[in-house]
Formats: sequence, C-alpha cells, structure tokens
Amino acid sequence: MPGMALPHSKARPAAPAARPAINRERLLADLNAVSRIGIGDRGSVTRLVFSVTELRSRQLLVHLMTQAGLKVHVDRIGNIFGRLEGADGPAVLAGSHLDSVVHGGKFDGPVGVIGALEAVRTIKESGVALPCPVEAVCFVGEESSRFGFSTLGSSLVAGQVKMKDLTNAVDARGTKLGEVLAGLGVDGDSLSGLKRDPKTIKAYLELHIEQGPVLEAKGKKIGVVTAIAAPTRLRVIFTGQADHSGTTPMDMRKDALAAAANLIAYVEQAARENASMDKGRVVGTVGAIKVDPGVINAIPGKVELAVDIRSVTGKAKDRVARAVEGRAKEIAAERDMKVDILPIRSEEPVDLDAGLIGVIRDICEEKKIAYEVMPSGAGHDAMQIAKIAPAGMIFIPSKKGISHSPLEWTDPDEICLGAEILLDAMMRVAYGEN
Ligand SMILES: [Zn+2]
Repeated sequence: MPGMALPHSKARPAAPAARPAINRERLLADLNAVSRIGIGDRGSVTRLVFSVTELRSRQLLVHLMTQAGLKVHVDRIGNIFGRLEGADGPAVLAGSHLDSVVHGGKFDGPVGVIGALEAVRTIKESGVALPCPVEAVCFVGEESSRFGFSTLGSSLVAGQVKMKDLTNAVDARGTKLGEVLAGLGVDGDSLSGLKRDPKTIKAYLELHIEQGPVLEAKGKKIGVVTAIAAPTRLRVIFTGQADHSGTTPMDMRKDALAAAANLIAYVEQAARENASMDKGRVVGTVGAIKVDPGVINAIPGKVELAVDIRSVTGKAKDRVARAVEGRAKEIAAERDMKVDILPIRSEEPVDLDAGLIGVIRDICEEKKIAYEVMPSGAGHDAMQIAKIAPAGMIFIPSKKGISHSPLEWTDPDEICLGAEILLDAMMRVAYGEN
C-alpha cells in the first residue's frame, strides 16, 4: 500500500543469490601502494612497529578506508577498524597487520589487511543489506622484530597482555616500549581498556601467506588452517668477565660467548630430540645474539641470547623450554658465571574454530579449489582473537616457502583468489550460512 510505512521488522536480511566480485586491479594497486612504504634494497620492505614507515602505512589505510566510505575507528594503540554497518548484532571481522620485519617482504600482513578492506568495500558497493556489521581490521605490531613482543595490538584487543610484559619490552637501541608509547602520547596504563567486548565479535577471519613450503610443494591453492603453533621466548644473559684476549690464560677466563655457544647448540639438540613427541613440530631457534664488548681483542664479558621455541602443543614446547633453562644454569655453574633467564613471553598454541574451518573448506569444495587442511607454524593475530571469538585463517601459497625476506612472493592470482574466498566466508558467516 503506497505511503504506508512497513512495520519495523527485526527479520534478518536474506543473503544475495550471488557473491559480489572483488575488484582485482584495485586490490593489487592498494597492496602495491602499501609495499612502497618502507621499500629498500632489492625490494625489501622495512616497517618496524611505531617507526615512521609503519605509521605512514597505517595512515594510508585510514585514507583508503575513509575513501571507501567505511566508519573508521583508531584505538589508543593504533589498531584500525573500518566498519560497514549491518542490521544489528556482533560484527564479522577480517584483517591482519601492516608492520614488517627488517628487510621483509611485501605480502606478510598487508595481504590480509588489504584483502579484508577489498572484501568489505566490495560488499558496500554491492549495496546488499547486511544482517550484521562487517569490519576490516589492521592490528598494530604483529611482528616481534622490534621489541621481541608479537601480536601487540591483537593481544590488547583480546585482553591478553600482562602490563609487566609491556614494560619489559625493549628494542635493540635500548628504547623501552613504554617510552615509545609515551612519545606517541599513549599512556601505557590505559591500554588494558582496549579489550573488546567479545559479544561485539561474531567471528574473525584472517587471510595470510603461508610462510612455508607446503602449499606450493603439494600444488594446492588454499590452506585451511586448523591450529596455530605458539612461541615460548626467553632472553638468556650470560655474565662472565671481559678481559684482554692476549694476557688472560685459558684457565682464568669467564668467556660468556663460549657459554652462549654451548647453549645455542643445546637449543637445536633439545628441539630435535623432542620433535617426535609432537608430530615433528617442535622447533627451537636462537635468532639473535648481543656480545659485549664485541671486539676482536677482548674476551666477551656479557652475552645476550634470544631463544624462540614453538610447537602446536603446549606440552612439547614447555618440555623443551624447561630443558633449555636447565642447561643454561648448568653451563653457567660449570663455567662459574652468572646467568639470567628472562621470559619474554609464553603463549599457548591455539585451535581455530571448527565452524569457520568448515566454511572455508566448503567454499573450496564448491569452487573446486585445491586446498590443504593444515596447522600454522608461525604465530598470527588470529591466535589472540581466537581467545575471545571464533577465529579462522585462510593461507595462500608462498613461493619456495620464503617469507621475512625480499624474496617473499605470492602470485597475484592467488592473492585475488584468497580475497575472494575471504569475502565469501565473511558473507556466509554474516548471513549465518555456516
Ligand atoms: Zn604476518
């Protein structure tokens, strides 16, 4: 009847018959625009958290979201949420991170952020009535390269940060994370308030490069991620005695680097010995070392090691971490020197949501896309959000398994396919088709 208002209805909008198609050129152009920020030698990308380049990449994202007509919210640590409203209820989130390692690649992180942005703006342009809001998200500081502290932004959103861990975090120049935040006008004490009410998140989806060789080796296009291995990280500091390398007899030395060398070899040994108890997925690495004074004619007096142990089961990981701690103490006692073991952070491995795993798998089945059901060896923002909401991850192949390198590469067709599947999964979840 013309002129008569329809009765207010809470009925959920129905799903459109077909999914709107993403804009390939726009997705790839925006991904390129991001990768030009912080570009260096041989096409490497460096955007360390809270550096000028990283801040510029986030600024670009805010611009792109605003241009797309999304409602943009930037929280106090710098997490960015670009929201498209729907009828009501909790939102379907999708995203990743824009920060990178030193001399990293173009795809680790941005693929998931720009992929999510492309999905959300495609939904907006299609004009479909959404039953619930959808949001594209960029989490701050996913990489641990600067402060040894990974998934900073998503941990705060999930309420998983011990404020003591934040204050302990220091970068290679000795700058404390707390000082950097203060310089940006961020009061560290206020950050616990960033925890998002779980009731506002229906699901979180993350598109990411695999960063491993499995998909390419098996000729698969998509990885359906089941669980995320988690790191236990330790800073081990041996303190011996710095002396003249020419005048100090071998039996009167306290060489901290020789002690550290013993421990480095042991980390490898302990991970290998325990690999079989966890389906071959315990890995242990000493990835960074700081030697003091670090000159050719002095016995190293103090050495700091960064130890990273990961597994998809907490039991195996703890066993290796305890063994490494025990051996560090033994080595120090044998050499009559001091050792300090500072836990940087210990995380529990995380299972992703069975429902979302099913949605992503169904899409691949229906579209006849070759997929692999697999765990993730690397940590991601999804492992934090999984603690407060159902989380799922979509992997796309990494050429030769290389990441954290300028050689990191994913084919544009595979990036676009990943974004299409992300869009489809977001809509299925939004319309309750899962
Ligand atoms: Zn990443």
